[in-house]
Amino acid sequence: MKNKKLGLNTICTHVGETPDEQFKGAISPIYLSTSYEYIDVDVKRYPRYFNTPNQEYLCKKIAALEHAEAAMIFGSGMAAISTTLLAFLKSGDHIVVQNDIYGGTRNLMEAHFANYNIEFTFTDGLNVLDFEKVIQSNTKMIYIETPSNPLLKLVDMEAIAKLAKSRNLLSAIDNTFASPVIQNPVDFGIDIVIHSATKYFGGHSDICAGAVASTQENMDIIWNIAKNLGGSLSDFTVWMLERSMKTLGLRVKAQQRNARKIAKYLNKNESVSKVYYPGLKDHPSHDIAKKQMKGYGAMMSFELNEGINTKDFLNALKLIKPSMSLAGVESTMLQPSEASHALLTPEDRADQGISDNLIRFSVGIENRKDLLKDIEQALATVKTTGSLVNS
Ligand SMILES: *Cc1c(COP(=O)(O)O)cnc(C)c1O
Repeated sequence: MKNKKLGLNTICTHVGETPDEQFKGAISPIYLSTSYEYIDVDVKRYPRYFNTPNQEYLCKKIAALEHAEAAMIFGSGMAAISTTLLAFLKSGDHIVVQNDIYGGTRNLMEAHFANYNIEFTFTDGLNVLDFEKVIQSNTKMIYIETPSNPLLKLVDMEAIAKLAKSRNLLSAIDNTFASPVIQNPVDFGIDIVIHSATKYFGGHSDICAGAVASTQENMDIIWNIAKNLGGSLSDFTVWMLERSMKTLGLRVKAQQRNARKIAKYLNKNESVSKVYYPGLKDHPSHDIAKKQMKGYGAMMSFELNEGINTKDFLNALKLIKPSMSLAGVESTMLQPSEASHALLTPEDRADQGISDNLIRFSVGIENRKDLLKDIEQALATVKTTGSLVNS
């Protein structure tokens, strides 16, 4: 199906269905074959060539959602990220990187890039000037992640894309936290869009996958090394991912509706000292959010008052699960200093503004009143049991 004028939910449901010529079933058949005929065929298919039928077709859905020419699916978000970076960065190259990016991406750079003689500089801030001032003569790419994890900091995508173009650099974004439902970086001139499909694309906390979308020309360059690095996804999981993505638009919008109201509730709650959500008027990048996001997403973070023990609060929750990952239909919370950002040094965490009592909240699709009740009962429990930090 051509996708030019189709609406979001139609793209989610129908674009990139694998044809079932034989039986005309209502859904995509699954092709688990790892071996395909090679004589007189246009495409020599093999799972690690990223071109089995289910992979090939689902990529069309992802490209359509990201307004890109082409896309690829990977075995994890990190496979998508590492393959993309290694496709464009060679020995002697340099990359400018937003300071507070996903911990795994940062760890990849800090632990391994020196071995490949690839240089990187993390910016001091999020303004376009913070990026511009660290560009070197050997810089090849600017890498951003907006909204960022876990503080929901925003970077102006249009300004970054302009800067990159003016200096003949590639721009890449990790769009995981927003999802294509909330923002489409290609529309602002960003070259390469990366996703951990483990998050909103999968949406049910049962799939680990990644995706990249860009021009056909860029995707050819990525494919050229991807087939050797070998981070492809099993076709069974590709098929599961297609099923999940049919409801991507519905899910993310429902999650976002909950998040907007819950952010306002937390912002007024006397036990909460700070809320980080781009939809709040006092968020430092609220104006950028209005310009580049369709809504404000379903991720937020908050800090409880000094006296309240964060871990005890999380343990007192009955419905919301303290859980490592995010973006599932179920609401989850996590303490970054103990989980997602535990591998960073305390200095790096402090540098990024991640306090030890920060809680990241991935808002799900449950009924909002049940989520609010759960937060209220957990706060009441920690207060009455007097589990004070300093006690
Ligand atoms: C989870 C995540 C990743 C890594 O994805 P995996 O699927 O776990 O490899 C990258 N970026 C962001 C923003 C993430 O949340």
